[in-house]
Amino acid sequence: MRAPLRRALVVGGGIAGPTVAMFLRRLGVEVAVLEARSEADRDAGAFLGLAPNGLQVLAELGLGAEIRARSAACAGLRFFNARGRCIGQIDHREHAQRFGAQMVMIRRAELHRTLMAAAAERGADCRSGAKVVALAERPGEVVARLESGEALAADVLLGCDGVRSRVRALALPASPTPAFTGLCDVGGFARCPDAPLEPGWTAMTFGRRAFFGAFAAPGGEVWWFHNNGARETMQVADPEQRRASILALHAGDPPWIADVVRATPTLLGPWALHDIMTLPRWHAGRVCLLGDAAHATSPSAGQGASLALEDALVLARCLRDTAEPQTAFARFEQERRARVEAVVRQARKNGDGKAPAGPVAAWFRDRMLPLFLRLGAAAQARFYEHRVEWSPPAG
Ligand SMILES: Cc1cc2nc3c(=O)[nH]c(=O)nc-3n(C[C@H](O)[C@H](O)[C@H](O)COP(=O)(O)OP(=O)(O)OC[C@H]3O[C@@H](n4cnc5c(N)ncnc54)[C@H](O)[C@@H]3O)c2cc1C
Repeated sequence: MRAPLRRALVVGGGIAGPTVAMFLRRLGVEVAVLEARSEADRDAGAFLGLAPNGLQVLAELGLGAEIRARSAACAGLRFFNARGRCIGQIDHREHAQRFGAQMVMIRRAELHRTLMAAAAERGADCRSGAKVVALAERPGEVVARLESGEALAADVLLGCDGVRSRVRALALPASPTPAFTGLCDVGGFARCPDAPLEPGWTAMTFGRRAFFGAFAAPGGEVWWFHNNGARETMQVADPEQRRASILALHAGDPPWIADVVRATPTLLGPWALHDIMTLPRWHAGRVCLLGDAAHATSPSAGQGASLALEDALVLARCLRDTAEPQTAFARFEQERRARVEAVVRQARKNGDGKAPAGPVAAWFRDRMLPLFLRLGAAAQARFYEHRVEWSPPAG
């Protein structure tokens, strides 16, 4: 059934935003994507992994080949202890057969640019430097006011504005604030040809005082992130002091880690990682949240971006198949809640495992990790094999 929806405002041009805009364009809906950051600012951010469940949404949009060309396949994850001994691995190389796609690593700026360009090509009005600061509902429409003073009206407004969502604060003011996971993140891109990393694999090191992840990208670049729990250390304003604090936290860990940090021209972040275990309501009136705005998840399950992609397809499908936006929003929330909350819980659990361990705890962890990885792989399979379908009707 064709939705009566004519105009939609999408707040946020990250991952969920341009993706839901593309699905709405399929329905002939007039869509504006409002992104707060300017074009020049869009290079911010490091990199992320797109899992099979998210890649299938991009394939549905005909973007599979383009994303593959702009990213690098991840063969798997290898885990190391602070002495550099491999204590376990998760192999992704058979995932294309098993789940229809293999995880890829992509620079965040590259993903954003690709999605926004694809949404614009499909007729969405994609605007940068368009920060939404206020909302109002009038009979039959919702109005967003931009920082510039401009006001835009539509039948529905979709809040895709991330973990610190302004739309959530405005439309659902009783929502709990996101919770600090206890982890901070810093990352970067380095050329470090001597690092003992296998191309295509991600090396995860449980360091003595901090966690370090490094993906060996094609072409010899190392894409890395560092997690530790000391919020104040990460909030050091001076980048060189921050670098010194990271180097100090990895003192005594395999020496290539320090080499990679030293070889990084610009440190990215810091990001204090927050999540939302459960949001009592995802929608109010003509406004609905999706992606991190509704269910932010820490990066430790590698699923936030893929869930945002899944949400975009499911919400557009519900709007297609349901005459009333409010009913569509309720169906969307009902269909998605259990799945996304399970991922948020698992991600928090994974992140807790990155906390530095004393010698005895580290001894146990090294021995128990293969078992934890087997259990983790079962949870991961449930996330990866999930399929959201565009074709069948929502009801
Ligand atoms: C360090 C780090 C590493 C991560 N790694 C991974 C990973 O490997 N795999 C994975 O799946 N997930 C990862 N994630 C999580 C993932 O980034 C998010 O889950 C995902 O980006 C959510 O997409 P989204 O579209 O909902 O929000 P976002 O991508 O956050 O996009 C929100 C957009 O809204 C814009 N915006 C905000 N406020 C306004 C406003 N008032 N008006 C207009 N625009 C606004 C923002 O500028 C932003 O562009 C990571 C997160 C972090 C912090």
